[in-house]
Amino acid sequence: MQSFSIDNNGYYGEFGGAYIPEILQKGITDLEKAYLRIIESESFKQQFDSLLRDYVGRPSPLYHSEQLSKRFGGKIYLKREDLNHTGAHKINNVIGQILIAREMGKTRIIAETGAGQHGVATATVCALMQMPCTIYMGKTDVERQMPNVKKMEMLGAKIVAVTSGSMTLKDAVNEAIDDWCANPDDAHYLIGSAIGPHPFPDMVARLQSVISKEIKAQLLEKEGRNYPDYLIACTGGGSNAAGTIFEFLNDERVKFVFAEAGGKGIGTDKTAATMNLGSVGVLHGCKMLLLQTEDGQVIDTYSISAGLDYPGIGPLFAHLATEKRAKVFAINDDEALKAAFDLTRNEGIIPALESSHALAVLEKMQFSPDDVVVLTLSGRGDKDMETYLKYI
Ligand SMILES: *Cc1c(COP(=O)(O)O)cnc(C)c1O
Repeated sequence: MQSFSIDNNGYYGEFGGAYIPEILQKGITDLEKAYLRIIESESFKQQFDSLLRDYVGRPSPLYHSEQLSKRFGGKIYLKREDLNHTGAHKINNVIGQILIAREMGKTRIIAETGAGQHGVATATVCALMQMPCTIYMGKTDVERQMPNVKKMEMLGAKIVAVTSGSMTLKDAVNEAIDDWCANPDDAHYLIGSAIGPHPFPDMVARLQSVISKEIKAQLLEKEGRNYPDYLIACTGGGSNAAGTIFEFLNDERVKFVFAEAGGKGIGTDKTAATMNLGSVGVLHGCKMLLLQTEDGQVIDTYSISAGLDYPGIGPLFAHLATEKRAKVFAINDDEALKAAFDLTRNEGIIPALESSHALAVLEKMQFSPDDVVVLTLSGRGDKDMETYLKYI
């Protein structure tokens, strides 16, 4: 059987690798040598598990939704990452990485953020660990995400408003990388999704894999078997999805279904449907599927959901999509909004706009009555209230 796990060179099939400037070679090599040893050490496991339990509030519940099950068939469970401290799955990854950084003797954290969710999670654990952090954010994003900017400042982070390029996420990434190039020994660059040069995608997937470990144990208790028939998640860079599938990656009984941002539709130029429309290219340090012009210019993407508005996709997902191990739906803005209001009115749960893309997949599936379906609700909708209120 084909293995979908990462190979010894840091690739998933043809995707992944580490395409980095010479100056970062040492930083990346040091991290590559250290991350597995640290993650597998007893002292890391102890600290990580205890923070996930007592600080984040894990295990997150696996909630059987009778409403969704009745409407769509099958037995549908929601994996409630929305109930975590700071409101999404991102906290799992940042806690793991800051412990790794500390163990490696790093004294400062660098991060970038688009909508501010990863920035808030990073500023949170930096406050917890008393580590200084600098967070790069495009000036446009600083202006339109003020509540998150204020939270990060209150948490003690230094926010740098980036004024180059389109003043959004990809420009913030470039400045964060420049900072890391200038300080490769002291600083850890804390990446927020399953992207970037190897070993970042694998490290992030392993830190998020707590999601699928819990799904296994919770299904065994509730269903008498430790695997589902379907796993459903949304994909921006791929970290909540990677965490959701990690333990089942090479289990053929489990089907993977992903929701990426269709935006206004894959026939328009306002989309971020990377796996449906992208081609092979290199961005931010790894080979992936990328929305680009014929001569390799990265295309500006669009989605109603900031967390899915990214022109690339993590290498694991580029591989799963190319090999048809996963089914990938491009979910448009209006479909995501409808799914968000459905869940809110029928279950009393306001989902994040990103997670609403995963919920919208249910309309497109045909389940049999015995199918066990687990859908990861990656975050809560508080941050999206302004958008939702326009559509009430
Ligand atoms: C950031 C974010 C995402 C997208 O990121 P992934 O790395 O693809 O998981 C999805 N949902 C929420 C709630 C987020 O904050």
